[in-house]
Amino acid sequence: MAGKIIVIGGGIAGISAKLRNRKSKLMDENPFMIMAPRIIDTLRGKSVDFPRIKRNLDYTGKATGIDLEEKTVNINGKNIAYEKLVIATGHSQKYDFINGSKYIHGFSGLEDALYLRNQLVNRKKIVIIGGGYLGVEVAGAMQNASITILEAGNRILAGLPLKFSDYATQLLEKNGVNIELGNPVDEVKKDCVVSGTKKFNSDITLFAGGFTGNLPEMKQELKTKNSRIVVNSFLQSVDYPDVYAAGDSMLVDNGGFIPMSAIIARSSGITAMENAMGGTKPFVPNNFANIIRVGDQYFGTIGNIFVHGSIAHIIKEAAVALSINHAREV
Ligand SMILES: Cc1cc2nc3c(=O)[nH]c(=O)nc-3n(C[C@H](O)[C@H](O)[C@H](O)COP(=O)(O)OP(=O)(O)OC[C@H]3O[C@@H](n4cnc5c(N)ncnc54)[C@H](O)[C@@H]3O)c2cc1C
Repeated sequence: MAGKIIVIGGGIAGISAKLRNRKSKLMDENPFMIMAPRIIDTLRGKSVDFPRIKRNLDYTGKATGIDLEEKTVNINGKNIAYEKLVIATGHSQKYDFINGSKYIHGFSGLEDALYLRNQLVNRKKIVIIGGGYLGVEVAGAMQNASITILEAGNRILAGLPLKFSDYATQLLEKNGVNIELGNPVDEVKKDCVVSGTKKFNSDITLFAGGFTGNLPEMKQELKTKNSRIVVNSFLQSVDYPDVYAAGDSMLVDNGGFIPMSAIIARSSGITAMENAMGGTKPFVPNNFANIIRVGDQYFGTIGNIFVHGSIAHIIKEAAVALSINHAREV
C-alpha cells in the first residue's frame, strides 16, 4: 500500500479517485465542482448556481508548482509532500493559432456561458467555429440570435456516426441555425469570419474546439502532448512512475483516440487511484453512452443503439445525477 496520495483537481475524475481511496487528499482551487453539461442550462437561462456542486476538499487552493524530484505540490505557498500523485486538472482551450484570435471568444466554462447569455439580450449574429458536439449544443441552446456554424469538414459531429450528423443537422436547421460545411477559417475580423473568398458576418465569433489539458506548472519536464500527460496503460506518467493522470489531463501513449468525456473521466479516475495504491489494472476506455442535446431535444447512443427523445434525455440526466451524487459523497 502506498503512502500519502494527493489528487489535484476535484472534478469528475478527481472525485472518482478520492471515492476509491478516502485516505487520499483531494485539492482544488474551486470550492465548487462545475458540472460541465449544466453550463448549457445556464446559457439557456438557468441560474449560475445550477452547474456549481459543493463538495468537500482536503485542500482548497491552486496547485501552483509540482516538484517531481522532491515529490511536493505547492499550494497556498506551502509544499505538501506526496508518495503518489494523481493529476486530474481538466481542460483548457486554445485558439491563438487562428488569425485574428483576439476577436474570438472561447466557450469552455461557466463565465463563457454567462457572457454569451448577456450578449443575447439583443438579437445578434453569432458565428460558431467548429461543428463538434460542443458547437452543436451551444448552437442548439441559443434562441435570440442568428446563428451560423462554420465547419471545415463535410459534416457536423464528424467524429460520430453519420446518423448523428443527419439528426443534428435536421434539428438545428429546424431551429433556424445555418450550417456551412467545407469552410475552414482563414481569418477572424471584428465583424466577420473569412473563409477563402467567403465572408460570414458576425457580431460574436465563438470557438467551440481546441480543447487541451490544463496542467499545473512543474519544475521538471514531464512528457506531454496537447498539455495532457502522456501515460502508459496503467495511467502512469511514462517518465515519472509516481505520477498518474486521469480524465482530460491524460493521453494514453499509443492508445488511439480517447474522447474527453465524463464517462472516461470517471473510469480513469478510479483506475488511476487503484494503480497509485499499488494495483496493476490496465485502463480500458469505454465511452459506452454518448448523448447530445439540441435545445430540448436529446439523441445519441447507448452501446451501439441509437436513442432519442425521452430515453436519451433520461440517460443524460442520470449520468449528471450520478456525478453530482459522487461529488456529495466526497
Ligand atoms: C461546456 C461543456 C459541456 C460538456 N458536456 C459534456 C457532456 O454532456 N457529456 C460528457 O460526457 N462530457 C461533457 N463535457 C466534457 C466533460 O465535462 C469533461 O471531459 C470532464 O469534466 C473531465 O473531467 P476532469 O475531472 O478531467 O476535469 P474537470 O471536471 O474539468 O475538473 C478539473 C478540476 O481541476 C481543478 N483544477 C484545475 N487546475 C487546478 C490547479 N492548478 N489546482 C487545483 N485545482 C485545479 C478545476 O477547478 C476543476 O475542478 C463537456 C465539457 C464542456 C466544457
